Amino acid sequence: RSLIPENHPRRQSLIIREKIVDALLDGYLAPQGLIAHGRGECFDYLIGEKTQDFAIKAMKAAIATMLLARHPVISVNGNMAALVPEEIVKLAEVLNAKIEVNLFYRTKQREIKIAEILKKYGAKKVLGVGEDASATIPELFSERRRVSPEGIYIADVVLLALEDGDRTEALVKMGKKVIAIDLNPLSRTAQKANITIVDNIVRAFPKMIEIAYELKNANKEDLEKIVREYDNKKILAESIKFISEYLNQLSLSL
Ligand code: ATP
Ligand code: MG
Repeated sequence: RSLIPENHPRRQSLIIREKIVDALLDGYLAPQGLIAHGRGECFDYLIGEKTQDFAIKAMKAAIATMLLARHPVISVNGNMAALVPEEIVKLAEVLNAKIEVNLFYRTKQREIKIAEILKKYGAKKVLGVGEDASATIPELFSERRRVSPEGIYIADVVLLALEDGDRTEALVKMGKKVIAIDLNPLSRTAQKANITIVDNIVRAFPKMIEIAYELKNANKEDLEKIVREYDNKKILAESIKFISEYLNQLSLSL
């Protein structure tokens, strides 16, 4: 990290990249996580590397949905543990949500390491590690379908990020409300989720904590109104339109 020049114009992006590489070297990020991160960086360019209005609207609906939920769960993978461990724990605390490790490429060793990191940041309980993931999601095969019977299996709302489209779809089919943070509005996860936050997890988590504090004491009717008036198709369309107009503007400014 010290090798990144202080005055490098893309210093922040490079620091984040280093964190991802460190997570790989520490053994809790699968190599495929590097590919997912690179794809995310690309899409982040296309939204100006800023949290846009369509993301804020989705975050408000997401927080309202989680505050109204009976069993909200935050699903955590290696990329999330590498970039926003502290924020995951904080958001779970404010929303009274459970935390579950849920890896596409499961190994017990990676699960244990991720749980350790989250606990270091104050998580009291982390579900989904090893034998705890004893329930199965129908329609998915092999290790990808295992979840905790106390967590995702009984959850009514699941917040996830950098998730595979297939698994997102399976959770939706189980009747769960899925909130996805995904920089690519065209991914299957973004398209299948009930609420899609098109933003970088690095910016989205702190912003969602802020919104959670704001909405925590709102009354139930107000929260229900936010959820009722939210239209994910419209938000996805807005994000795609934003990218298209942003690129058009850039092309004109050359
Ligand atoms: P899908 O399976 O949903 O069709 P995919 O196979 O392209 O999409 P995955 O590799 O399964 O995607 O998941 C990674 C997704 O997470 C990508 O859409 C990528 O753009 C997004 N992503 C990567 N890094 C970040 C990040 N820091 N914040 C938010 N989203 C990210
Ligand atoms: Mg995929």
